[in-house]
Amino acid sequence: MPPTTPDKSAITPSTPVRDIPGVGDHRARALSRLAIDNVADLLRYLPMRYEQQSAEAGVGELVVDSIGSVRGEVMATRPVMTGRGQKFRFEATMRDHAGQQLRMVWFNARHLVDKLHPGMMIRIQGKVSRYETNMQMINPRLEYLDGLDAVREKEERIRPVYSATEEVNSEAIERIVADVLPMVIDELVDPLPEGLREAHVMPTLSDAWRMAHCPADMDEPGVARRRLAYNELLLLQLGITLKRYFNSHRLAAPALQWSDAIGEHIFARFPFELTDDQRQVIGEITGDLQHTRPMNRLLQGDVGAGKTVVALYALLLAVANRKQGALMVPTELLAEQHFISIQGMLEESNVRMALLTAGQSTAGSSQRRELLEQIAAGEIDLVIGTQALLAETITFHDLAVVVVDEQHRFGVLQRARFRTRARNDTGGLALVNPLQRDPSPHYLVMTATPIPRTLSLTIFGDLDVSTIRHLPPGRSPIRTRVVGPPNADEVYRCMADRIAGGEQAYVVVPTIDAHGHESAVQLKNVRAHAKLLAQKYCTDFVVEAIHGRLASRTREAIMNRFRDGKTHVLVATTVIEVGVDVPNATMMVVEHAERFGLAQLHQLRGRIGRRAGGPTSVCVFIADPTTEQATERMAAIAQTNNGFDIAEHDLAIRGIGEFFGTRQHGAPPLRVARIPDDLELLQLAKQDAKHIVDEDPDLTRDDHQLLRKVLIQYHGDALGLIDVG
Ligand code: ADP
Ligand code: MG
Repeated sequence: MPPTTPDKSAITPSTPVRDIPGVGDHRARALSRLAIDNVADLLRYLPMRYEQQSAEAGVGELVVDSIGSVRGEVMATRPVMTGRGQKFRFEATMRDHAGQQLRMVWFNARHLVDKLHPGMMIRIQGKVSRYETNMQMINPRLEYLDGLDAVREKEERIRPVYSATEEVNSEAIERIVADVLPMVIDELVDPLPEGLREAHVMPTLSDAWRMAHCPADMDEPGVARRRLAYNELLLLQLGITLKRYFNSHRLAAPALQWSDAIGEHIFARFPFELTDDQRQVIGEITGDLQHTRPMNRLLQGDVGAGKTVVALYALLLAVANRKQGALMVPTELLAEQHFISIQGMLEESNVRMALLTAGQSTAGSSQRRELLEQIAAGEIDLVIGTQALLAETITFHDLAVVVVDEQHRFGVLQRARFRTRARNDTGGLALVNPLQRDPSPHYLVMTATPIPRTLSLTIFGDLDVSTIRHLPPGRSPIRTRVVGPPNADEVYRCMADRIAGGEQAYVVVPTIDAHGHESAVQLKNVRAHAKLLAQKYCTDFVVEAIHGRLASRTREAIMNRFRDGKTHVLVATTVIEVGVDVPNATMMVVEHAERFGLAQLHQLRGRIGRRAGGPTSVCVFIADPTTEQATERMAAIAQTNNGFDIAEHDLAIRGIGEFFGTRQHGAPPLRVARIPDDLELLQLAKQDAKHIVDEDPDLTRDDHQLLRKVLIQYHGDALGLIDVG
């Protein structure tokens, strides 16, 4: 029995693409690789440009020197080599429905040898010329009419051109969109209040989608794009503005007492003088902590900028107020490192600290249970741990400050909500005052990837930002070199020399093993590369490999051996970018550096240069940039050690999506809008969002109902909108 095709009327924006009539599993998978999973994704996949399509004609109707379009069957093909193999052209003939023939020539199109064969149905478009007695087209645009579904182009029109892949071409996407659009266009609700739409002279959402995919003239795509980009930005800004409103009106954090004396008392714990930058951001944080509006602050500062003591200051201020503080870090190893160094600073104080990690649950659950009880009873002041802190049902007695050390990861939008024991838990106040605000701790999020200003306006709009710009004194500078693959041999010999002199090195490669990547280029992988280094360059030293697929215990053991100097060379994937501190590692080599983002390279480089005095740290990027953009990026990273410059550069070159790497990292759901190009639209959206929230913070007004619905649908999780109630 043939599979049943879904009812066409059942197509909605959330319909998976594989359920669209005519889209099979194979094509659905190919679309999924373009991040197109449902109809809404498909609509948001806007054409990259537009082309004029001529009406199809028979060969006999073509006019020399004008643009024509013909469909027909390929009769013969012939690759032709001239100039001693230097020049190449591909010749073919086609026959139209009336049996008339047309000659086609493509220059330098070697790929056609495998792609165009007699018997194929094609449509071509190009400028018509004459060759002897035949009509011909030189370098015509070629389309394969592989199915029955290729509609005859009866009239001249504008056609969208979509960015395509090997598996699905632009025409296929065009056909699917053209099929689906009429089915859903009436379903698309336009959340934008009419007043705003008219004020900005924008089309309705349905019109905008139609204009973007099937424009009637060359102006429509621009009009559509502006509306669609604005839409995304408005929703984002609304989400952010609402969250900010919610944070300051519906939540209450403990207002912490602060005095010069308390401040001096905390400073006295630090083994060094704080830098001006550190003092400045501590001032900003202290300002926040003295109010009941929960702090929501991002602390940015390059790797090694000295963010930890700033965090510690905030945590100790909580403790000084007889409340609790929690520090969350990305890995167990880091938790341990922080625990040890903070313990050192708090020696002989009466601050009660606990290290809480996932590992402990197997180590001894009764010990862990006891720890949790102490935290709940307020017998622990300061808890340091990994995300496990969150995963578990930990109840704090009186949690006042949470610091999330994200390193470079942006989980910022999914900031955790901690449980804190509600005041009326004890049964005293049974009647909850509806105006009473829910208790919340103060939040400080730390990141080592500086946020370009344009981004802080978009996704980080609900955070206040503090910045440490200058590194503390006594840092050894890092020398960066970019070399080509032929120099690798020399690089590794130099590395071996340094190791012989007592130093250690990191070598970073892009993949774990030889499989699992589709690229034609043979990429270095951790396993093979570690073997090569051990056998060829480091025969007297210990080389170990580390990557994300190893169990975390194994990884930790490997890191510990490296930290203790038992391993000399660590061959790794980017797992090492999340910070461990091994001052003796003074050299880093990154293979295929052109494949990494600039921010990522900068993070990686931050692993070295951690020893004051001693030899200069050296970072070598082995790169084979094949595009101008890649060359530019390599030049940028070699030139500057300033994370802020690099972040701006990265954003400008690669756009917002790439800047964040993957969607899981909290990338904003922007498909149409481009940052920083759409800065002006962004400002407009920000201003509109503020108006809306000022007037109607719960979005209960009739003309805001749809906005509210769509907001919850799109950004609900990410922006905590569910909370808005
Ligand atoms: P990051 O911002 O990357 O978290 P850390 O807080 O780990 O940086 O600090 C990096 C190193 O610099 C640590 O060894 C820390 O002790 C040291 N450090 C921090 N602040 C100062 C300072 N004001 N003077 C001297 N050393 C400092
Ligand atoms: Mg740190």
